[in-house]
Amino acid sequence: MKIRDVILFTMLATGSAAFAANNFPKLPNGWHVHDMERPQPEKVTPGKTDSDAPSDAIVLFDGTNVDEWWFGNDGQLKWIMKDGYLEIVPKTHSLTTKRKFGDMQLHIEWAAPETVVEEAQRRGNSGIYIMGKYEIQIQDAWENPAYPDGMAGAVYGQNPALVNAAKKPGEWQSYDIIFKAPVFKNGELISPAFVTVFWNGVLVQNHQEIYGPTEHNKAPPYAVHEEKLPFFLQNHGQPVRFRNIWVREL
Ligand code: MG
Repeated sequence: MKIRDVILFTMLATGSAAFAANNFPKLPNGWHVHDMERPQPEKVTPGKTDSDAPSDAIVLFDGTNVDEWWFGNDGQLKWIMKDGYLEIVPKTHSLTTKRKFGDMQLHIEWAAPETVVEEAQRRGNSGIYIMGKYEIQIQDAWENPAYPDGMAGAVYGQNPALVNAAKKPGEWQSYDIIFKAPVFKNGELISPAFVTVFWNGVLVQNHQEIYGPTEHNKAPPYAVHEEKLPFFLQNHGQPVRFRNIWVREL
């Protein structure tokens, strides 16, 4: 044990924490190293598995209902809901959250259709349109080359996945997305959006800047929008499945 650790241990043991902190180096954030005055992290109970929502998450889909989703003014769900998952029905609606989100951690699981009908972009295509504007692509990337910035794990049309972590068609896959919303002030962009994505636990977007709304064959600039907006699951005409969707607001 180093002498500094012995001193710290003694101070903590004798309740001299404040004294200890005040004599320790000050950090750029204003706190001292090992400062006992800092607030304790809020307690969160993790899920039983990485699929399960932690205690502070907003559960958007747990397999039982679509109460958190908007899918048309008639309120008629036209996607299939069974066995704990939702499945896209082509030529119906997309699925949009009723809540609005800004900075967030999003967990979602998806599966491309087991039966392969088409190739490239037409195979298992869907996507998560964060804020309705910034798409993290969903696509069946198993032995299915397409334009790289349109394959699974990509910021659509902007940045391909760092690696292809695809599972086979029909197998459940996960995205864990950390999204930092763009910041606007007085009609100007102050900070672009950034996104980090783990695909089946593998890092595929590393604090990647988003250059503006993601669109097919276009690269539009940012346009001022609200701090929080709904996201939607794209109906691209292929029966992609979804389950275990939850968000932690950041
Ligand atoms: Mg898509």
